[in-house]
Amino acid sequence: MVANNALIRARENGGGKGKSGKWKELLKFSHISQCMDLIVSVERDYHSLCEKQPIGKMLFYLFCRSSPALQNYISLLDALVKATIKSDQERRDVGVALIRRFLWSQVAEAWASLIGLITCCVCVIRDLHKQLSGGPFLQYQESMFFDRFLQWKKLERQTITKRTFRQYRQLGKGGFGEVWACQVRATGKMYACKKLQKTQVKKRRGETMALNEKQILEKVNSRFVVSLAYAYETKNTLCMVLTIMNGGDLRFHIYNIGPAGLRKEQVQFYAAEVCCGLRHLHQKGIVYRDLKPENILLDDNGHIRISDLGLAVELREGSLVRGRVGTMGYMAPEVIDDQYYGMSPDWWGLGCLVYEMTAGRPPFRERGDNAKKEEMERRIRAGQIEYSPKSFNTQTIDLCRSLLTRDPEQRLGCQPSGAADVQSHAFFNTVNFRMLEAGLVVPPFKPDPKLVYCSDVQDIDEFSTVKGVSLDCADDHFYSKFNTGSVCVNWQNEMIETGCFLELNLFGPRGSRSPDLDW
Ligand code: ADP
Ligand code: MG
Ligand code: MG
Repeated sequence: MVANNALIRARENGGGKGKSGKWKELLKFSHISQCMDLIVSVERDYHSLCEKQPIGKMLFYLFCRSSPALQNYISLLDALVKATIKSDQERRDVGVALIRRFLWSQVAEAWASLIGLITCCVCVIRDLHKQLSGGPFLQYQESMFFDRFLQWKKLERQTITKRTFRQYRQLGKGGFGEVWACQVRATGKMYACKKLQKTQVKKRRGETMALNEKQILEKVNSRFVVSLAYAYETKNTLCMVLTIMNGGDLRFHIYNIGPAGLRKEQVQFYAAEVCCGLRHLHQKGIVYRDLKPENILLDDNGHIRISDLGLAVELREGSLVRGRVGTMGYMAPEVIDDQYYGMSPDWWGLGCLVYEMTAGRPPFRERGDNAKKEEMERRIRAGQIEYSPKSFNTQTIDLCRSLLTRDPEQRLGCQPSGAADVQSHAFFNTVNFRMLEAGLVVPPFKPDPKLVYCSDVQDIDEFSTVKGVSLDCADDHFYSKFNTGSVCVNWQNEMIETGCFLELNLFGPRGSRSPDLDW
């Protein structure tokens, strides 16, 4: 209980209020002369510096705002970006007003009605960036705003140690160690820290797997997949600091609240968000391979993220992979038959997930049934899947049948158009995927902020210590590949979200504050 109360209190202060009293000292800018090493090592690429990196984008924006010749570019860009994430009706009004304000009205309006407002906005945004990436980008790199960017970058590259965080209660246990709630002292932001015991990893030859998980997490950046904010090491552990998901996993919500199964709106919402997460992974050439309710976690607001990317693998352009990995009962037929596959196991996995959320049991197992591996494999290859009319409507049956098609070539989602086909299925006809992708759909269920949705601390088994394994220099080589510190975009987002950016980003002797920006 004590552990829970401390965690709940920290969570309430997680939005930046839980900063250490000494936070400004922890985030003190170095003098620009001490940032010279960065001048050569920072990549000079407009897209990365001024679009992808949140602090970079802010500073470039401030630079443009400070120049009379560029102010209009920024106002237009700002307005266009906002227009693309409005609801459909609002977007029409905003879009039309925008075109009237900035563009040569009649021609532009005709153009917009011809190609659609969104496409129109996207084209103009692209064109504006093209212009800004020329002369203005060169001028920016000579300005004090870029110096400031380097100062932030220096802070971002600070060494990360366990002193960077406060630790709260344990949240769960994994194959190589424990997961704990933690909080960054300097900003107050809460995270989940997945710790891998170095001796466990070595004993069970988990090095490639651990590094693979970390490197895949670094590449993804989606609101539907947990993000990696920091990777660091301590004497005995390797740590991945991840988005904290306080609402528990879907397994808990399917089985532990009322009768097994979820309401139709919940099933549709979670399935739609998982679909967006898979789409993002697949676009990056990553097949996830471990879809099951346990791995889908809820956040404070009831949005989900895919977690535990230990089995995910990145495929080279158009290539296939083999490997009997996953969790029995959720593995696709092509996986248990050890065939080559691309993204197909994930669409099978989504079928299993939609089935289980709806029926309150997985498709190939009865309640309380302890079928052995061989029997499970037989059922997956050839068993009849039952759809009780009590739980399933026709659209849900059709979606499950299409996803649980044994031949991957015939399965929904496995054609070149991929996730788009799944999203166009009648089951999702009331979902606005554009709004969902922008995080603008309100979840059908919000977890209770006063509850801790995981087992009591006493009930989580303790991790066994490993004897007779000693660590040597060969291991250090692997640790150094793992121990890369802050992950750029997520660290910068943390600074902005928690208000640290706004409070520290002062210019000039009197320290005028930068305006509140949401570009
Ligand atoms: P493993 O790969 O070893 O199975 P997981 O990534 O599944 O490890 O983590 C183990 C457990 O820790 C999960 O089942 C869950 O209870 C908890 N956990 C993992 N990641 C998070 C997170 N981001 N937020 C909250 N709890 C988490
Ligand atoms: Mg797991
Ligand atoms: Mg794992």
